[in-house]
Amino acid sequence: MPRDPRYDVLFEPVKIGPVTTKNRFYQVPHCSGTSDNAPDANTRMRETKAEGGWGVVCTEIAEIGDTTEFWPFPSLHLWDDADIKRISRMPEAVHRHGALAGVELGHVGLAAGNRASRTPPLGPTSRLTLESVEPFQSKMMDKQDIRTLRQQHIAAAVRAKKAGFDIVYAYAGHGLSIFSQFLQPSFNTRSDEYGGSLENRARLLREVLEGMKDAIGDTCAVAFRFGVNEIDGDLVQGQELVEMLKDIPDLWDVNISDWPEDSQTSRFSKEGFQEQQIAFVKGVVDKPVVSVGRFTSPDTMLSQVRRGVLDLVGAARPSIADPFIPTKIDEGRVDDIRECIGCNVCASGEMSYAPMRCTQNPTIMDEYRRGWHPEKVPPKGSDDSILIVGGGPAGLECANILSKRGYEVTVADARADLGGRVKRESSLPGLSEWVRVADYRLYALQQLDNVNLYTDSPLEAGDILEFGMEHVVLATGAKWRRDGVGRINLMPVLRGDEANVLTPDDIMDEAEATGPVVIYDEDGAYLGNVIAEKLVKEGHDVTYVIPVPEVAPYLALTMEQHKVIARLMELGMRIERLKALKAVHTDQIEFACVHGGPGLTLPLGTAVVLTSKTPEDRVYQDLIAREVEWPDAGMKTVSCIGDCEAPSIIAAAVHAGHRWARDLDNTKQHVPQFLPMPLAQ
Ligand code: ADP
Ligand code: SF4
Repeated sequence: MPRDPRYDVLFEPVKIGPVTTKNRFYQVPHCSGTSDNAPDANTRMRETKAEGGWGVVCTEIAEIGDTTEFWPFPSLHLWDDADIKRISRMPEAVHRHGALAGVELGHVGLAAGNRASRTPPLGPTSRLTLESVEPFQSKMMDKQDIRTLRQQHIAAAVRAKKAGFDIVYAYAGHGLSIFSQFLQPSFNTRSDEYGGSLENRARLLREVLEGMKDAIGDTCAVAFRFGVNEIDGDLVQGQELVEMLKDIPDLWDVNISDWPEDSQTSRFSKEGFQEQQIAFVKGVVDKPVVSVGRFTSPDTMLSQVRRGVLDLVGAARPSIADPFIPTKIDEGRVDDIRECIGCNVCASGEMSYAPMRCTQNPTIMDEYRRGWHPEKVPPKGSDDSILIVGGGPAGLECANILSKRGYEVTVADARADLGGRVKRESSLPGLSEWVRVADYRLYALQQLDNVNLYTDSPLEAGDILEFGMEHVVLATGAKWRRDGVGRINLMPVLRGDEANVLTPDDIMDEAEATGPVVIYDEDGAYLGNVIAEKLVKEGHDVTYVIPVPEVAPYLALTMEQHKVIARLMELGMRIERLKALKAVHTDQIEFACVHGGPGLTLPLGTAVVLTSKTPEDRVYQDLIAREVEWPDAGMKTVSCIGDCEAPSIIAAAVHAGHRWARDLDNTKQHVPQFLPMPLAQ
């Protein structure tokens, strides 16, 4: 289909200093959980975005020297000339598709642990380091340190130019930069020309930006990434800084700080959430401005440009969830966009030192390793038919890929709606966007005529044998346990038939809670606190009990734990910490202190218990037990995928569904390791 002419403006070229981007789609710097630990995987991931039509594709932070070492967090390196060859593969790959390549040079000052280089972390003054629990303190930079940092930054910019980058950044965002720390009076209490007035606090940054312009500005654009509230949260000083430096950078990449604020989850904010804070920048500077806001809708993108908020539409998460957004808009396939759901599973990769994963895009970071393309799949290898039992994220993704490959696919689900857990969970407070996981796949399936979708169809082993399809995939999910077994209680503490105990499945099936409600959350992710929010809003008196020091430890990885705790406090929720479930009685619930101190007994109407799940694999096991009957039924294989195989996050179920669909008749299943490339190569 041709492009809707309304979107033509998104495809206009934009001049950025000495370079020009072919369109307004701009993948801002974002981390990948791999960097130099897996350069092939990282490079292919960026290349796929360029192939998908992004006009500019940027790297994550590249360290400029040994005083800013993140170990064990993955990062790129431009410490010396030996690093050029390795990093140059990214611009090479991106250029193959006509996109510009950007690199985010960074010195993170107080946020660097320097655990391997063993050099002291640096700061404007001597402070405890950020992002760490270790009792490390920075050295207060002297004039020589300032000179060295300036020279290192400019030398790294020269290396970036040699490596082939078109856009080179100085970074003062996310509270994670030495420049931010110099800019903030709360960190910078110096009395020399680098402290005091804003002009003095901005001196190092100005010197570096000017030095970069002199050194590489003839052929490279110098970009400046700035959190507008970076200076101790003060937007007025942020505006003053933009005024002060407006003529130096060729590009302003602005956002709100810190990283959790910049990458807010959909539970807390919606598309375009940064506009209010960053909108002033276009009114001050004459250079192109890019910003983000989890833009997935072309109409919102267009409106940002039309209303003069932005020149370039920035994206990190939307480009991860769908690397082909620009191409889909260009080809009039807007309904095919796989919209980011704002869950931050991608960020949890970096936070757990692991390759980035995405709930919506199972191919991310597997482009190189498994050879997966986000849009292309190999044609079918046989005329076999496949029955998928269970239409949750695993089943729908499996069906989606199999049907695109040309296979005849039938999906049967016991429930009246397809979508499984995403459909059910998305009806809970704040999770409405999660339904996109089902909607995207259902839309795709409805476009093809080799797919049969059945609802209200609970199947047993006998029914499946009667169907007689060659391959049967059980994607029947998992159920929350009723006996209290989880990470703390390894043995049952409940009988499992207590009338006053509900699980999240019961809550999603609209079971009524009565009297004082006690939620016991050993799961430690989002569901316990989302249910708590729902029940308080419905007027229940709720106490939230956790066996750990803080609510929802998993949500620290998705960068929303602090917001969740603040929300529970706003709702007036009582939170009891470090207590493990011991027993439930008719009108009381008992907890033990995890450290052996005094326990806790609370009055009880209803307990909601989140501990762990039991795979719903009964039908799978029945079929395995009846293997002798398969040949007569014409069945060749029976598999079990997703939560039914091993309960996990939604992203894991989607990946499992995708993998099964790709691996059917794929004889080349060797998966290479993620390996760093030796420096000498
Ligand atoms: P996953 O995350 O692995 O995709 P879900 O729990 O989201 O798992 O989805 C599993 C789906 O399987 C649910 O919609 C459920 O109704 C369906 N299901 C479970 N058992 C059966 C069965 N025996 N027959 C048909 N559908 C089933
Ligand atoms: Fe969006 Fe979630 Fe994918 Fe991140 S993991 S890109 S937030 S859908």
